[in-house]
Amino acid sequence: MSKALLDSLVRRIRSQGPITVADYMSEALSHPQHGYYQTQDPFGRAGDFITAPEISQMFGELIGLWCADTWQAQGSPPSCALVELGPGRGTLMSDILRAARTLPGFEQTLEVHLVETSPALRRLQQENLAGRTEPTWHEDLENLPQRPTFFLANEFFDALPVHQYQRSETGWHERLVGLSDDGQNLAFGLSGALPDSLCNDLPECSPGDVVTVCPAARSYAAIMAKHISQYGGAALCIDYGHDHTAAGDTLQAVKQHKYHPVLQDPGDADLTAHVDFAALCNAAKSAGAQTHGPVGQGAFLKALGIETRAALLGESATPDQRAAIAAALQRLTESEQMGTLFRVMAITAAQAPTPAGFPVTEADCTEGRASG
Ligand code: SAH
Repeated sequence: MSKALLDSLVRRIRSQGPITVADYMSEALSHPQHGYYQTQDPFGRAGDFITAPEISQMFGELIGLWCADTWQAQGSPPSCALVELGPGRGTLMSDILRAARTLPGFEQTLEVHLVETSPALRRLQQENLAGRTEPTWHEDLENLPQRPTFFLANEFFDALPVHQYQRSETGWHERLVGLSDDGQNLAFGLSGALPDSLCNDLPECSPGDVVTVCPAARSYAAIMAKHISQYGGAALCIDYGHDHTAAGDTLQAVKQHKYHPVLQDPGDADLTAHVDFAALCNAAKSAGAQTHGPVGQGAFLKALGIETRAALLGESATPDQRAAIAAALQRLTESEQMGTLFRVMAITAAQAPTPAGFPVTEADCTEGRASG
């Protein structure tokens, strides 16, 4: 365990005063030497948590087919970009590219871009994608290729830094990270009262309620929406979260598959907050795009045919492999597992047809695109 990050945060707070929760989260996850994503390979069975693409190849394959289908529905444009945000080990991209081959012509149109801040994970992505693609890496969404773009983000938005605000009898305060009484550890505190003008966007709350807000997520959604409106393509965002903006302290830490105190062992535990999908949708719509969903991950994957894919894989599998495929199918789709809590939303240009896996909109019906 590294105490270096804790020590550096304690020194910083001692000299400069308490920091915001967003500053804490971004140091804990992305500090250049001691941040969680700089030092660890947190994914998979041996890591702290397991993500959908690491559970089964079916997840990425279906998303690859979704991209190919959406590309075709938009008139098969001849040169496109695939941009993945927070690609982890590169497993999702690898499965997407394999599946993309099944639609003739699609893979050849694709340029692959990865948005990743961690040098350690960039190396892992390069290794895992060698022979399949030579991606271009980016720190953020500036300098995107000017062509139709398919954005993919699985468990990316939940890792972006959040601010937290707490309501008191007299007004709103920002939640801050300061020092414990002994001055050696971290502890939550509150700022002084904030001006009303800063709090206009916060939902109605009772005293004591905490609200979790992620400006970075809104800004990423707006950039993707603007790009898609201008050049075409679509975005698919999958995350643990809620469909409506509401009060809640959703910041959580996980270490070795167990919840962990948020301010303990910074840099050694994963930190996430639930994604506010209503805020993402509003940001995308304000930028002129159309949004679809959110729908549950289970419903989405079933609409794309995950049960048929599982049966097909099972035909050529050993009994052990068949049991693993069935277990993965359950894990990805069942309500008490990832099927409902994980939400899927898409962004397309305002006039684009509804992509597969989402309920058709009125615009599709009036333009005769409904498939029944
Ligand atoms: N999508 C992967 C990994 C999810 S974990 C999967 O499903 O397995 C979050 C990923 O986002 C990691 O790759 C992490 O390094 C990256 N990341 C976190 N914050 C980031 C930021 N601000 N900008 C770019 N990438 C970030």
